[in-house]
Amino acid sequence: MAKHKTHYEDCDVLVVGGGMAGTGATFEARHWGRDMKIICVEKANIDRSGAVAQGLYAINCYMGMQWGENQPEDHVRYARNDLMGMVREDLGYDMARHVDSTVHMFDEWGLPMMKNEKTGRYLREGKWQIMIHGESYKPIVAEAAKKSADKIYNRIMITHLLMDEAQENRVGGAVGFNMRTGDYHVFRSKTVIVAAGGASHIFKPRAVGEGMGRTWYAPWSNGSAYALPIAVGAKMTQMENRIVLCRFKDGYGPVGAYFLHLKTYTQNANGENYEKKWYDQTKELVGEYIDHHPTPTCLRNHAFIQETIAGGGPIHMVTTEAFQDPHLETVGWENFLGMTVGQAVVWASQNIDPKYTNPELTTSEPYVMGSHATCSGAWVSGPEDLSPPEYFWGYNRMLTIDGLFGAGDTVGGSAHKFSSGSFTEGRLAAKAAVKYIEDKKAEGINVTDKQCEDFKVAIFKPLETYQVAQNEITGGTVSPSYISPIQGLQRLQRIMDEYVGGIATNYMTNGNMLKRGLELLTWLEEDLEKVGAEDLHQLMRAWELKHRALTSQCVTEHTMFREETRWPGYYYRGDHMKLDDDNWHCLTVSRRDPKTGKFSLEKVPVYHIVDENEKKKAS
Ligand SMILES: Cc1cc2nc3c(=O)[nH]c(=O)nc-3n(C[C@H](O)[C@H](O)[C@H](O)COP(=O)(O)OP(=O)(O)OC[C@H]3O[C@@H](n4cnc5c(N)ncnc54)[C@H](O)[C@@H]3O)c2cc1C
Repeated sequence: MAKHKTHYEDCDVLVVGGGMAGTGATFEARHWGRDMKIICVEKANIDRSGAVAQGLYAINCYMGMQWGENQPEDHVRYARNDLMGMVREDLGYDMARHVDSTVHMFDEWGLPMMKNEKTGRYLREGKWQIMIHGESYKPIVAEAAKKSADKIYNRIMITHLLMDEAQENRVGGAVGFNMRTGDYHVFRSKTVIVAAGGASHIFKPRAVGEGMGRTWYAPWSNGSAYALPIAVGAKMTQMENRIVLCRFKDGYGPVGAYFLHLKTYTQNANGENYEKKWYDQTKELVGEYIDHHPTPTCLRNHAFIQETIAGGGPIHMVTTEAFQDPHLETVGWENFLGMTVGQAVVWASQNIDPKYTNPELTTSEPYVMGSHATCSGAWVSGPEDLSPPEYFWGYNRMLTIDGLFGAGDTVGGSAHKFSSGSFTEGRLAAKAAVKYIEDKKAEGINVTDKQCEDFKVAIFKPLETYQVAQNEITGGTVSPSYISPIQGLQRLQRIMDEYVGGIATNYMTNGNMLKRGLELLTWLEEDLEKVGAEDLHQLMRAWELKHRALTSQCVTEHTMFREETRWPGYYYRGDHMKLDDDNWHCLTVSRRDPKTGKFSLEKVPVYHIVDENEKKKAS
């Protein structure tokens, strides 16, 4: 252990993850906490980290309240509809009422925004999206965070949260290691804001072998946002609500600009509009939800998946009409060049020019996240002025652990935040964290050296395991004494894929499969005590894997608990194929007991605050 030097840092606000939510939190913490010590710790380098690393072509959440384009209530209705009724409306409203101010700051900071030449307003791609030249989006928000923080630590992976030993259920900081130096870092902090993104690679991806690493969601998003709080007993919500995306095949290129701006559309191999064909069957499953406008994302996936199973594939995006217009053709290509260069490369390598060939679409493997058309994540307190008692315990965006806050993909129940909404949620969490400190809620925190030393031993154990056992084998990678991170990852992905509703089963699972999946995940957990890491990079992979495995357990427990198929097209419970509003019009909340590792689950009411308030106003 002596070779891993220990560094201590004491601070007021510790931000874990410097992506969109983390940069927003770091920026806002300085605004309210002028004299406070604010630290941001990032696994990569905040200039190009997180889901926005490569850039974006649209900001997907902007109300346009200054022009009366949309109001927060409209966004709540939109997100509620898309998630088949299951959202935390207090959180969604709170984000929506502040998101425009965030976007206006991006504009001031120099993010190139496209303007509508006729109106002078931001150029709309759709009702909620505005178009940007966003290749430099991430460096711009990173600069704001760098100017605000006392220190940004890049290349440090946070592996565990520290807990206060003086007062139960209160956070005391976090620990991790530097992936370049191998040093051990202890951050003792009065508050912690977890903003570590979503989870890819917990289900087996479509791209395997030579394509491994190509996923829709960022491959480096490894579920730390979930595993860190789950491990200390924080409550989680809607973890069954994993997302499946319809994307361009093999490159996972986004389809938003194509549908909304280029007005392209989809058809099956025979040139038919297949969505109509599945209307009656879908109505059987979900009732009137299929008549909602816009059609919920999962239901559009459902038609795609059913059509493919029925032999109508491949499904194509009809680009050949729009691409005849030179302006739209340029937009179509630029959309990828500023955001997903890989898709343009895939098309070039497969001789696909979308002007003459309609490209194929596919449905992705499932991902876990809280900011897109999905709302998995931590169960947090809402804002004081909006939240019903069940949703409020003192500080906005605080988890069920005192002093522990969340934002962006970390936070459950609040879908459709996207990049701007995640940054906004980081700001909201930071404001509340500063207030928590000012209210003297973080006095007398005690984190003993023993707690820190125990974590140090645990963190570097995979290096020791490998060191000791490596000579037992003379060739190959199969050892009697350890498993490598890639072996563990592939095992995890197969369990999730085959038992928990991945692509292998066309997203189908049931109670028996989930039970078996949980059993296999428990054995994997035991074996992960023996994961071996040959170097610091593999040590990172080992901890990413452990976080993915814990996230997966939570996803599986939630999927087993909700005995209905609420989101066909995201996954199916074959033993409960129908949406069941009588019994399951509710949010699911779990807690893992840190001492026993056992999960307990409960139903929590879903309050439709927006229309309730309107009803009250009218009466
Ligand atoms: C392919 C794709 C396309 C998208 N397109 C759009 C779009 O067009 N418009 C739009 O508005 N939004 C879009 N989004 C959504 C947007 O990117 C996300 O909503 C947003 O980035 C979520 O913010 P976050 O801070 O929660 O996560 P991220 O921005 O991903 O940040 C998480 C950060 O945490 C770090 N981290 C992870 N684990 C650890 C750890 N253990 N220790 C330290 N650091 C850690 C990561 O390195 C990362 O920097 C897209 C997302 C994806 C994946």
